[in-house]
Amino acid sequence: MNKNLKLGGIVNKGGSSLENKTGDWASKVAFVDQEKCIKCHQCVLFCPEGCINIGSDGKKVDVDGNYCKGCSVCAAECPVKAISMRPKK
Ligand code: SF4
Ligand code: SF4
Repeated sequence: MNKNLKLGGIVNKGGSSLENKTGDWASKVAFVDQEKCIKCHQCVLFCPEGCINIGSDGKKVDVDGNYCKGCSVCAAECPVKAISMRPKK
């Protein structure tokens, strides 16, 4: 066993989830077409990472690429197909 490897997947203190940037290892990121979006916020409810934010206007949604893991759940659940998955740069 290589004891020089860093430990992974361990939560060693409460309230530390923001330190684990799940978007770091994603190959795709969700993109919202604001023209198609009807502001229903279904994507916000379904995102397992909680990384789709509602803007200060209470309507517009934005994906935080630091935490989007590219799972496509939001794209599958969007009723008007306003979300597409794009390769991460
Ligand atoms: S589910 Fe689709 S239409 Fe609804 S807020 Fe999200 S992107 Fe917009
Ligand atoms: S692709 Fe997955 S992690 Fe990224 S915003 Fe959509 S539901 Fe959230």
